[in-house]
Amino acid sequence: MTWHIAVDRERCMGSAVCAGTAPGLFTMDADRSRPVRPDVEPDEEVLDVADSCPVMAIEVLDGGKVIAPRP
Ligand code: SF4
Repeated sequence: MTWHIAVDRERCMGSAVCAGTAPGLFTMDADRSRPVRPDVEPDEEVLDVADSCPVMAIEVLDGGKVIAPRP
């Protein structure tokens, strides 16, 4: 089972919080974030980074269900 990371590049404001805190998961590309790999092993860090995005541009999906950002 893997999780899928999606970044809404329209919503992303390029703060680089995600790439700065989790460079193994996110990288900056033309001043916007993108996942290093779209599919990752389940890891609490992935959820934490999605929660910390100031504009909620990062979604984590588990089998098509959105599991982060968390309410
Ligand atoms: S933390 Fe959010 S707004 Fe900042 S670069 Fe990452 S996806 Fe974009």
